[in-house]
Amino acid sequence: MDRIPLVHASLGEKELAAVAEVFSSGWPAGQGPQGKALEAQLVERYGVGDAVSLSNCGAALHLAMLALGVEPGDEVIVADYTFPAPAHAVRYVDAVPVFADVRADTGTVDPQAVESLIGPRTVGIIAVDTVGLPADYAELNAIADRHGLFVVEDAACSVGATYQGRQAGTLAPVACLSFHGRKGASSGEGGALLSADPVIGQDARLRSSFGIGSIFDQSQVVGLPIPEFTDIGYNYKMSDIAAAILRVQMGRIDELLVRRSAIAAQYGELLADEDLLTVPHVPEDRTHAWQSYMVTLDPRVDRAGLAAALRAQDIGCGHGTWATHVQPVYQSKRKCPVSADLFARNLAIPMHAELTEAQVERVVSVLRTELRTHARSR
Ligand SMILES: *Cc1c(COP(=O)(O)O)cnc(C)c1O
Repeated sequence: MDRIPLVHASLGEKELAAVAEVFSSGWPAGQGPQGKALEAQLVERYGVGDAVSLSNCGAALHLAMLALGVEPGDEVIVADYTFPAPAHAVRYVDAVPVFADVRADTGTVDPQAVESLIGPRTVGIIAVDTVGLPADYAELNAIADRHGLFVVEDAACSVGATYQGRQAGTLAPVACLSFHGRKGASSGEGGALLSADPVIGQDARLRSSFGIGSIFDQSQVVGLPIPEFTDIGYNYKMSDIAAAILRVQMGRIDELLVRRSAIAAQYGELLADEDLLTVPHVPEDRTHAWQSYMVTLDPRVDRAGLAAALRAQDIGCGHGTWATHVQPVYQSKRKCPVSADLFARNLAIPMHAELTEAQVERVVSVLRTELRTHARSR
């Protein structure tokens, strides 16, 4: 039987050719010609003040907290229903993540929940574009302006999505992208920080390279300049190998997204009348990047049994993403019931640019049959 994986990174000949070029250039490390060219490409595509290529999105979130001046004991409101990287980043700087519940229909952070959590120690908000769907930035930015808070967009999953005609990655003054193998554009591992204010970008770039400037740049200078360490930085640089792959991938985003959107539309049509699940809701004012396709199962469905049955028939599936506040490392006293409910009931089904129409049909047909086997009757 045809195995249908949950995810598949679309990396091919063009990316391989780009890697071969880096090998012959002799500079595979970070902040070299490929990294700089990628940053220029990102600045151009997004129209931002600066773009910093980094080792991953977790690093970008950490550097965002540092560049924005988050101090120990500060509170940062984070979207709860997500891969928990935003809350981790808040903890890296000894600040306190405050978990905000999400909208039941979109899984994105609920602006009213955010506003209700603002207190004297709140310094900012990290919103998440949940598995590729942008959050409510008009409301979030307005709340932040009223209270003097920063907003960071975790756009890890939303490269290619739009909100009110603007691109995900530009919806807040600082955005963090991921190029992990499970995201829409990928170099295996990778990330970027985009900022409207170039000062934030410069701060992040310096801290991403142990607190000194580009070693590649210094190697090009005549004489013997000895760079000085001005900060305790980290090594969060993206290698030029990854940057070369991403320069190709950035050029393919639209083509890959056309495929994922067509697959989402096919699922939506084939599952519209299925009363044991709900298909994703995309509000009129935004578009989805479809990093994942998550359906919400009816409470009667035994998700674990259903998932095991799908996997036994070689159809990849997963729980989707996480309710952060219930993770053992957080154990928050404040609850986010909507997020907890989505964490319990969502199911991610195969979504990637290389799925065929016939494979989508098979997923839907097996899913419909197994839903009936694994649903309790009322
Ligand atoms: C994947 C993901 C991250 C982490 O990205 P890495 O590049 O793997 O560090 C952060 N936030 C969200 C919402 C994600 O989905």
